[in-house]
Amino acid sequence: MKHVTIMDIPFLNTNQHSFVQLLNQRIQKKEKTFIVTANPEVVMKANHDQQFMQHLQHASYVVADGIGIVKAAKLLNQPLPERVTGYDTMIDLLKLADKNRYRIFLLGAKEGTLEKTVNEISTRYPNIEIVGSQHGYFDRESKDITASIARLQPDITFVALGCPGQESWIANNLSNFDYGIFMGVGGSFDVIAGTVKRAPMIFQKLNLEWFYRLLKQPTRWRRMLTLPQFAFRIVRQKTKGKIS
Ligand code: UDP
Repeated sequence: MKHVTIMDIPFLNTNQHSFVQLLNQRIQKKEKTFIVTANPEVVMKANHDQQFMQHLQHASYVVADGIGIVKAAKLLNQPLPERVTGYDTMIDLLKLADKNRYRIFLLGAKEGTLEKTVNEISTRYPNIEIVGSQHGYFDRESKDITASIARLQPDITFVALGCPGQESWIANNLSNFDYGIFMGVGGSFDVIAGTVKRAPMIFQKLNLEWFYRLLKQPTRWRRMLTLPQFAFRIVRQKTKGKIS
């Protein structure tokens, strides 16, 4: 099965490695690709916000960013092989870009974080051409940034504006671009810049990355409240047999 639909969102049935290979093929064929990495929070948001749901429907691929989605798929007897996270996908794409001399654009985060991200990427991946960058606190209605990205034609544009802003920005601007990968990467620039640390491997292995983040950024606790609601909705989907 190509997709697993969870609360009306079709998740691509793939693993990290195959997904990145697929993206590489699309870059080489110059196909336009909008990627959404969705966790339970994103799924819940889409189910409460019609416009956000419509934006997600523009996506070429939605992948399972988070153990909650993988667990839900299992419960629905339509298992997904593993998480495909935004951060890991960004790092894999950077490696690919370094190998193939791809051209990238970085959009989002605070000015200082963005500057550090640009420096880190240039040092770690010297063959990548960073064609441009723009911090994430700009007028979203203005088309100037869209026009400059359209002109530069990067192979990959990483959009770190937080959710739902990044997905909405991509959906609203996608028709202006000829090709390239467009992907919302949340707080990934902060991790690359070193302003936010990723969970130690042990937390990642135990699927407790969310718990580590909660410990480090306790203000996020409110977001976690959507998780029980998500679990409840999944059980309801299962009992209704609403799987496609
Ligand atoms: N961000 C931004 N512009 C905004 C809001 C957020 O550039 O208007 C950036 C923020 O500086 C951070 C990133 O988006 O680097 C992700 O923010 P957050 O951790 O809130 O994202 P989420 O966890 O919601 O994906």
